[in-house]
Amino acid sequence: MSRIDCDDFKKFIDPYLDGEFDDRERADFDTHLAECAACRRHYEQQAWFLRSVRPALQRPTRLPPGARERLEASLRVAQRPARARRMARRLMIPLPALAVAGVVGLGVMPLAGFKPAPMVDDAVEQHCADFPVEFPSPEVAEVDTWFQDKVPFHMQAPAFPGDKVTLLGGRLSRIGGGEAGPSTRPAAYLMYSVGERKMTVLVFDGSDLKIANGEALRAGNKQVHLHDANGYQVALYQRGPLVYAVTSDLPQRDLLNLIGESL
Ligand SMILES: [Zn+2]
Repeated sequence: MSRIDCDDFKKFIDPYLDGEFDDRERADFDTHLAECAACRRHYEQQAWFLRSVRPALQRPTRLPPGARERLEASLRVAQRPARARRMARRLMIPLPALAVAGVVGLGVMPLAGFKPAPMVDDAVEQHCADFPVEFPSPEVAEVDTWFQDKVPFHMQAPAFPGDKVTLLGGRLSRIGGGEAGPSTRPAAYLMYSVGERKMTVLVFDGSDLKIANGEALRAGNKQVHLHDANGYQVALYQRGPLVYAVTSDLPQRDLLNLIGESL
């Protein structure tokens, strides 16, 4: 039995992720993590956020005014008050050494099973890879400008109205597969957070492609082809010459709603 509950876990996830706990404290958290699927999910989300966005913020990147503040707010890695640390200490009760080996490798999703188009596989692989963003910014226009001289197409990142979805930034990428086979083409990789979840979008010139396979659904004014790839949804849609491959583990309906509202 774990000595901490879900509230404790969430409250102290930052020091846990940052490796600030001693062995016994860590063992308590490891145990809870092993026993609790909800906290495992929360942990994975927090972990990708830290791995993917924080390194970019720590580089001396020239960010648009206010962007750093907004991104750091999204990161929720604000300085933890000393009081919180003291509470963490009090929570920790001596515990015999626990066999917690095996609670490693979280976040590594084997891409087995259903094999749709190679492009869909590639999108899921890139989604899971936690590549850090090269250009952190919550502003669509800024990110489009950054890509301008880096990709051979006129970049238009999807904009999501409201505050449910936050753009975290972009990086230069490639996408393979499609009817062109294993060859790859330049793509813009965008990372968003949807609440605590990650959503990634690959944008590329697909004027020569047919994306007709997969279930075709209506989302707003878009025709979306949805692929379920090992627990991830990959939604493909076209806008002019550009193809958008949106990957997340959001429920299908939520993902379609977001895409339907996007500009
Ligand atoms: Zn829990």
